[in-house]
Amino acid sequence: MSQSVIGRPSVNPDTSSPDTPAPTDQRPHGLVWKLGRWFLDGLPTIIVMSVLVAIGYYGHTHHWKIPTFAELTGQAKLVVKDWCEEHGVPESKCVICNPDLMPASPDYGWCTEHGVNNCPLHHPDVAELKKTPVITEATMQQADRALALRERPDNNAACKVYQKRIQFASNEAVQQAGVDVELVDQESVTEWVSGTGEIRYDPTRLANLSSRVPGTAWRVLKNVGDQVEEGEILAVVDAAEVGLLKTDLVKAIVAEKLARKNFERLNGLKGAIAGKDILEAESILAKEEAEVLSVEQALANLGLSVDVSSIANLSKQAMIDRLRFLGFPNELAEQFRSQTASANLIPVRSSMNGVITERNVVSSEVVTPERTLFEVADPSWMWLILNVPLEEASLIQVGQQVRFQPNGSRKEVTGNLSWISTAADKQTRMVKVRAEIDNAEGQLRDETFGAGRIILRQEKQAVVIPRSAVHWEGCCQVVFVRNKHYFDSPESPKVFQLRNVRTGFVNGNRVEIIAGLLPDEVVVTQGSDVLRAQLLKNSLGAGCCAE
Ligand SMILES: [Zn+2]
Ligand SMILES: [Zn+2]
Ligand SMILES: [Zn+2]
Repeated sequence: MSQSVIGRPSVNPDTSSPDTPAPTDQRPHGLVWKLGRWFLDGLPTIIVMSVLVAIGYYGHTHHWKIPTFAELTGQAKLVVKDWCEEHGVPESKCVICNPDLMPASPDYGWCTEHGVNNCPLHHPDVAELKKTPVITEATMQQADRALALRERPDNNAACKVYQKRIQFASNEAVQQAGVDVELVDQESVTEWVSGTGEIRYDPTRLANLSSRVPGTAWRVLKNVGDQVEEGEILAVVDAAEVGLLKTDLVKAIVAEKLARKNFERLNGLKGAIAGKDILEAESILAKEEAEVLSVEQALANLGLSVDVSSIANLSKQAMIDRLRFLGFPNELAEQFRSQTASANLIPVRSSMNGVITERNVVSSEVVTPERTLFEVADPSWMWLILNVPLEEASLIQVGQQVRFQPNGSRKEVTGNLSWISTAADKQTRMVKVRAEIDNAEGQLRDETFGAGRIILRQEKQAVVIPRSAVHWEGCCQVVFVRNKHYFDSPESPKVFQLRNVRTGFVNGNRVEIIAGLLPDEVVVTQGSDVLRAQLLKNSLGAGCCAE
């Protein structure tokens, strides 16, 4: 046997030199020498035997078969391995080929309510957690709210991919594959509809002010940005019409006084004069009284109120003097008296408390009632106008909170939706919505553009994981969950369980999981391409929905 194995010519002391027996004098220690020689000649055989025994022992302890003679002589290839090609782990450890090594978790099938297979909300024992968690009513209601709000991506009820498991040979193999995991945590979720838009002055708190009569701007007293109060004078216009009305008023008062005096005189002579003369005087008085009222009203229409009774007893000149700065407070009147001889002045007053946001007039400029001289806005409340995609408009309701971040600002302002347009823009397919924003601190400016969010739902504690953890496998969304026995010992099978998930709100690279994962489970977030590749291999490339 040894000759065959090592393939060497045999060396035997009995046949080494048959024709020349060694002289005994040259070999003083005949027996010892013979034994030594025999040992040396047999050494290769001994080594080979020892190696075979060692291989046999190793093979025995590792459930190998002792190699056949043919294998060892090179007449067949050496096939000594324990490897499951399909699942990429030692065959003896493959939990997929040997389910007894790790019995599959229970299969509860499809959950109609949450749209996942093996729903952890209804069957928390499917969670890869050592201790089965308790699902509270609040958690169930939270899932209900998320599902009731809007349509969520659906999973295929018939797909069995959630039953699959992916195994690695060792934790080192997991790390070498670049697989990274994350503890499933809870965080707050705010679901919103976004829209772009702008801050505008509330037009119900906006005034466009003009002169009530044509004229020229004599003084402009206020500028853009000035705070003004209701009634405050912004400019002074010199209008001939005003002077004429004042003259008319004085004339009318004088004429009325005369008519009254005449009537009273004739009335005192009753009986001595014809009744028709008294009637005529009475009618003239009535006409003059009406004239006074008419001019008084014309002035009042210009915002120039006159207390006729307080001036009626003055002299004509005193009346003219008193009316000269009609409509101006005494302080201004005194100031103007030295600056102009005109009696045509009329103030342009603010109709509300606010800020001057526009000024379209300079001194000496011709003004007309049609032309806006000032815009005054009350910026303590502003309008936020947002454009929302038509498809999302059905999600929004009056009263919902709105948050707006002006471009270039970090601070969000908030308000509540007060109006939703019933029509969509034909071109942009956008629906306009409006919110009133408290701007008491004055941080918002008109025509400020930015991004708005209409808050649909807020949850304090939702399951949220990186988007990279969720995979669309053709007909359902899955995650890879680390088996709860993964770290029981270094020898524990390194298994990841597939799990159906129902996704909710997506915010950047984070996604809410409505159902399918429970807090404290461990989910693959990085390198899951390796797991997917293994999954496809297991399914013979047929993908998610193949059985
Ligand atoms: Zn296998
Ligand atoms: Zn369920
Ligand atoms: Zn599927």
